[in-house]
Amino acid sequence: AAQLGLKTACVEGRGRLGGTCLNVGCIPSKALLESSHHYHVAKHDFDKFGLEVDGLRVNFGRMMSQKDDVVEGLTSGIEGLFKKNKVSYIKGWGKIIGSNEVSVALTEGGNESIKAKNILIASGSEVTPLPPAPVDNEGKKIVDSTGALELDKIPDKMVVVGGGVIGLELGSVYSRLGTEVTVVEYMNTLCPGMDKELTKYLDRVLKKQGLKFKMKTKVTGTEVTDAGVKVTVEPAAGGDAEEIEADVVLVATGRRPYTAGLGLEELGIPLDAQGRVEVDEHFRTQVDGIWAIGDVIKGPMLAHKAEHEGIAAVETMAGMSGHINYSAIPGVIYTHPEVASVGATEEELKEAGVKFRKGKFNFMANSRGRAVQDTDGFVKVLADAETDRILGVHIVGPNAGEMIMEGVIAVEYSASSEDLARATHAHPTLSEAMKEACLACFSKPIHS
Ligand code: NAD
Repeated sequence: AAQLGLKTACVEGRGRLGGTCLNVGCIPSKALLESSHHYHVAKHDFDKFGLEVDGLRVNFGRMMSQKDDVVEGLTSGIEGLFKKNKVSYIKGWGKIIGSNEVSVALTEGGNESIKAKNILIASGSEVTPLPPAPVDNEGKKIVDSTGALELDKIPDKMVVVGGGVIGLELGSVYSRLGTEVTVVEYMNTLCPGMDKELTKYLDRVLKKQGLKFKMKTKVTGTEVTDAGVKVTVEPAAGGDAEEIEADVVLVATGRRPYTAGLGLEELGIPLDAQGRVEVDEHFRTQVDGIWAIGDVIKGPMLAHKAEHEGIAAVETMAGMSGHINYSAIPGVIYTHPEVASVGATEEELKEAGVKFRKGKFNFMANSRGRAVQDTDGFVKVLADAETDRILGVHIVGPNAGEMIMEGVIAVEYSASSEDLARATHAHPTLSEAMKEACLACFSKPIHS
């Protein structure tokens, strides 16, 4: 907003900028995913590369402080960007008291009132409470993702409730560090909503890595003891209860919009059935001058979705025509192998009755994957049967989160699978698997 010439202030009560993503979400979890992956590779795979290590062990305290340093560096980086762009950073919790006024309960005490032509709500989300497993991050026994990023020792046993993105990422971190991880998932599939072929594959590889899954199972109770937590689970459809003992339980069953204290009810800004702020396609709420973006409105709870909505909203405020292509927003799960998707899933296309062609290529036949001995997974391209326009790209494999960008650009620019297949891909790269999947889609792959 400031770069577009709007006089801008940001009200934040957490004490540090960057929201959930930087402070207690994407960034600290990626730091731990990376450290634990290095350990896993050193322990299990170095040998194949002719590397021998004696006395390899985890210094968990050091690992955690490295993560904290990354968070500190990036959050203070935002403060620097604010200064550079002349954005006023107002520390405290804001309440909207009129269509052009925010009252801030300042962190240092007292109140400040800010008048503004436009107010943008970007208050994000919070963990949805799970009544049978009340979170107490301080107690370090039943924790949410924030607590799981702050444990002071590696648990021997962990029960993860929820086989979604957080459960699989943080479950992987601790599993790699030696924790016996059991994931309890209510549905019959991990990450419901993702392409089934991906989640089925992921389920298989994660099991190979040592994670245990209890599918179609619900948690009905927890008892915190001196030693840890006793978790009672039951089949989702009802049946005999079973008890699992754990040192730590991670509750990762989803997040809900965070609107407490914003004053929306008094202003007459409606929430939908899921507690999300209702907005039009330009992110305007029903009150003139008040806008909302990100986790607090509908759509996937992803930092990059929020970022783009924020940009589109302020562009509209500045008289430009901000817009977002929701069919080209990628989703990534940072397990190993990574999982990444953009566009329609096979199930969605079938459901909509769209005729499509499917091209698939396994990393096992990709020379770079073979050279670096990282061959789990595949690239799948779905294209319209008549026009060859790419409708969806789904990858499970090494670096899928970076590779998906080729699919995002393809969807954004309405490329055909032949367009991508005929673009020269550097050799030897993992991205050649994308080229081959495209070849498989409109013709046939070379290396399969
Ligand atoms: P999620 O919605 O991804 O997964 C929750 C899982 O819990 C689902 O599989 C659901 O079926 C299961 N579940 C729900 N209630 C249950 C119950 N009572 N017992 C057992 N299982 C139950 O939610 P999350 O993993 O908590 O993540 C929260 C949000 O944060 C999501 O929107 C996610 O997209 C986002 N996030 C994204 C990333 C990423 O993009 N890499 C990483 C972390 C979080």
